[in-house]
Amino acid sequence: MQAVAAELVASGCKLTFNVFSSPVGYAGPLRHDRESLLTTRKAMIALLKQYPEHVLFSIYNAVAHTSEKALHDLYNCSYPRCNPSQDIGLGRSFRQYRTDLNWDRSVACCVPDTDCDDCRHYAAGSAVVTARLYRHVGSLQAFKSWLDYVDTYLAVWVMGYDKGENLCREEIEPPPVVRRR
Ligand code: SF4
Repeated sequence: MQAVAAELVASGCKLTFNVFSSPVGYAGPLRHDRESLLTTRKAMIALLKQYPEHVLFSIYNAVAHTSEKALHDLYNCSYPRCNPSQDIGLGRSFRQYRTDLNWDRSVACCVPDTDCDDCRHYAAGSAVVTARLYRHVGSLQAFKSWLDYVDTYLAVWVMGYDKGENLCREEIEPPPVVRRR
């Protein structure tokens, strides 16, 4: 990562990170464990600090994508494979129609062959973490972290949107689900 980042920065490019997520049934050596996730997180944060003008990421992005729990366990994935809800939202509206016009909820997300228990994809997080605003309003650091995540998402996906300065410089734990009374 260091060598690649240095090349990109020298050429005036921006960069961001994605995290390998195991396909269903894969148990080979590329599957992350606690140690590899920690190493990945440290490398991401080090490069973010080293090249703040070039790295489109935040500390909370690193936390969300390298925690021992994957995205679904941390935030409850909104895509139909994991979300049977018929309320307004992705569980109701996200559809992938096949050539025979069938639709299969059990494979309905952007990365349908990924093992949900190990899903740390960039694109998945951009929908799943951003949808959980209400979990991030319990503390100033959590809210700042969520804003950093959304700011990063917009800078990566929206042409002409410039990333602002990150607001939270601490690693926070992703807030748990808020139970309504
Ligand atoms: S693979 Fe990821 S994005 Fe797709 S349903 Fe599973 S947890 Fe959600």
